[in-house]
Amino acid sequence: MARILVVGGSLGGLMAGNLLLRAGHDVTVLERSPRSLEGRGAGIVTHDTLRAALRGCGLAADGTLGVAVASRVLLAADGSTQATWAHPQILTSWGRLYALLRAALPPEHHRLGAQVQSVAQHAHGASVQLAGGETLHADLVVAADGIRSGLRAQLAPAVQPQYAGYVAWRGVCDEAALSRHTRQTLFEHFGFGLPDGEQMIGYPVAGSGDSTAPGARRWNFVWYRPAAAGAELQALLTDADGVHHPDGIAPQQVAWRCIADVRQAARAKLAPQFAEVLEKTAVPFLQPIYDLESPQLAFGRVALLGDAAFVARPHVGMGVSKAGDDAVALVAAIAAHGATPAALQAYAAERLPPGRAVVARARRLGRYIAAQQPGRTRPRSAAEQLQVVHETAIEASGVDLALEAEAVVPSGNS
Ligand SMILES: Cc1cc2nc3c(=O)[nH]c(=O)nc-3n(C[C@H](O)[C@H](O)[C@H](O)COP(=O)(O)OP(=O)(O)OC[C@H]3O[C@@H](n4cnc5c(N)ncnc54)[C@H](O)[C@@H]3O)c2cc1C
Repeated sequence: MARILVVGGSLGGLMAGNLLLRAGHDVTVLERSPRSLEGRGAGIVTHDTLRAALRGCGLAADGTLGVAVASRVLLAADGSTQATWAHPQILTSWGRLYALLRAALPPEHHRLGAQVQSVAQHAHGASVQLAGGETLHADLVVAADGIRSGLRAQLAPAVQPQYAGYVAWRGVCDEAALSRHTRQTLFEHFGFGLPDGEQMIGYPVAGSGDSTAPGARRWNFVWYRPAAAGAELQALLTDADGVHHPDGIAPQQVAWRCIADVRQAARAKLAPQFAEVLEKTAVPFLQPIYDLESPQLAFGRVALLGDAAFVARPHVGMGVSKAGDDAVALVAAIAAHGATPAALQAYAAERLPPGRAVVARARRLGRYIAAQQPGRTRPRSAAEQLQVVHETAIEASGVDLALEAEAVVPSGNS
């Protein structure tokens, strides 16, 4: 049994913590937030590998995980159905996965309000320094502290997120608030709207109390819109009191004028069903889209996992699945090599190629939006529109990741 510290208690850290505990290790997940993260987040597409990782965490990971959809629908700007595609999937929510993974990890293995400031290593172990002065010792440290990982900043400061040139407006809308027409033509599907230069997607997720009963669900949307780096992005990340949040703006802080603008744009550009969803979503929020690739995942006794290691644009719907794959690979490497730097090297060798491939694939799927110039929007062809419907957030097993990796486009050339 090894002593292992996991820094970050979001979905990646909780999956790693649960899997390591079930593999017999003495693990503690350290989360800087003093409060549970419950009630945050929006929709998550599930994949086979995510369900396998969740089963490894002791969860049922069956149909009860979320809402099943049978097909995809592309709506034209006038609200008519332009295309459909039979493609069954289970859609869940960040909050549901968080609650399940928290419940599976005994409280003595999870600390809230534990902000890690730095990591140190010596011949036979590693230690982390918490804000407040406490030092914790371990055989291994797992950095699951997200896209702006402080441990990665310490170990590989040159690795930085690259802004992709567009943002995602997101939100969830109560099913009960929607008109019958929108419920009948959109709600039950994985839906797409493809105005020139932009991309709207969405799907049903569980509602309050994780209810998946018809009438009690919600519709989760993600609307990708170009926003040039500089003044345009800064305006979106500035709250109504004039405070700029360059590293991301919290949902409640998004300026009401920006929300009014995006609702107006929805009425002008999207099918009426999507405009209704925007209108009836209480708190639309936004996140800038980034690519992140760390060329190194193992640093002696410290390993990067999840978004600390790679962030792929959400078009692939792989953020949580990839973190689960990382956690599964890490546990297997420790089983094979012990809690040693060699285990982390083996983990890195296994996870670097798929990490690079999924970032490349996501970059390719987002390239059209990233390439838009103000006032010079290039329309998509009908074939390109169908490609979006067929390639967004599908099973990674249906994709030749090796080919994606070969086609890697350097950052910034999206
Ligand atoms: C609140 C929240 C909501 C999200 N909602 C969605 C969603 O709706 N849809 C989606 O696709 N993805 C969502 N994500 C992203 C998704 O969780 C990740 O893509 C996936 O889980 C893999 O990321 P991660 O767990 O490695 O990192 P993250 O999810 O980014 O989590 C990193 C965690 O580390 C903690 N942390 C950071 N620094 C420190 C430190 N120094 N000490 C201790 N703890 C630290 C953070 O507080 C955070 O909880 C959300 C993430 C968060 C944090």
